[in-house]
Amino acid sequence: MKDFVFKKKFGQNFISDKNLLNAIAEDAEISSEDEVLEIGAGAGSLTEVLGEKASKVVSFEIDKDLQQHLLGLNLENVEFIFQDFMKTQMQDVESRFSKNYKVVANLPYYITTPIIFRLLEESSKLDSLTIMVQKEVAERICASVGGKDYGILTVMTNFYGMPKITRIIKRQMFFPVPNVDSALLNIKLESKYPNIDAQKFSKFVKACFSMRRKTLLNNLSTLIAKEKLKSVLDEQTLGRRAETISLQEFVILFEKLSNNF
Ligand code: SAM
Repeated sequence: MKDFVFKKKFGQNFISDKNLLNAIAEDAEISSEDEVLEIGAGAGSLTEVLGEKASKVVSFEIDKDLQQHLLGLNLENVEFIFQDFMKTQMQDVESRFSKNYKVVANLPYYITTPIIFRLLEESSKLDSLTIMVQKEVAERICASVGGKDYGILTVMTNFYGMPKITRIIKRQMFFPVPNVDSALLNIKLESKYPNIDAQKFSKFVKACFSMRRKTLLNNLSTLIAKEKLKSVLDEQTLGRRAETISLQEFVILFEKLSNNF
């Protein structure tokens, strides 16, 4: 690692503090029976801790310059895959696990949201996510209905699971030091609405939030004819803005309207 040049384009901000690395594994509740997926091995500091605690770790790393160093760590129960996680088939990822798995990762900031959505939408045997993200992203995910941070990200993560911030991490804990503080976010997956078509629900929520300042009537008219909307929902509901609508209410609205788009 002596001559390693950090690459901003890959979101490389590494952690070396052993107490923090142990705390991440602790918040993820990793035990010797667990199988873990890590996205972004970096120098392998978190990978090493996860390898000590879990039965198996599969760790993706996009930067081939890290290959020699990571393989040189000789971590017995760790399988490194030098590929772009976003270009890997989810089926291929999941076939590497013998049972349900947990994701633990200090995520690259430039693709935090796509990675979260990919995991929530496409995985079939994911138990939980414990991920380091920008503090601002964690606050949006855990926002309360009605606030400025409340949005698609809040509604959809809560649709799939139970998000909570387990700790705030100051930017000085990373190298190179990023411009923002981080938060460790834990999302336990729960099948809250097994009968709802998640993809269609996501399309519906996105349409509701398409113009934040506009009413449901205006935003939903891109999906459903205004006359139809008026025949199914009352005037007061159609006059509301998406940011005032709770997940439970979105589900009820979706159930009323889903036959119409
Ligand atoms: N886990 C290490 C740590 O905590 O010190 C590194 C975390 S660093 C924030 C993110 C890592 O993800 C970098 O090593 C980067 O090269 C890697 N990465 C970025 N984009 C990736 C992608 N699409 N697929 C796999 N790894 C990626």
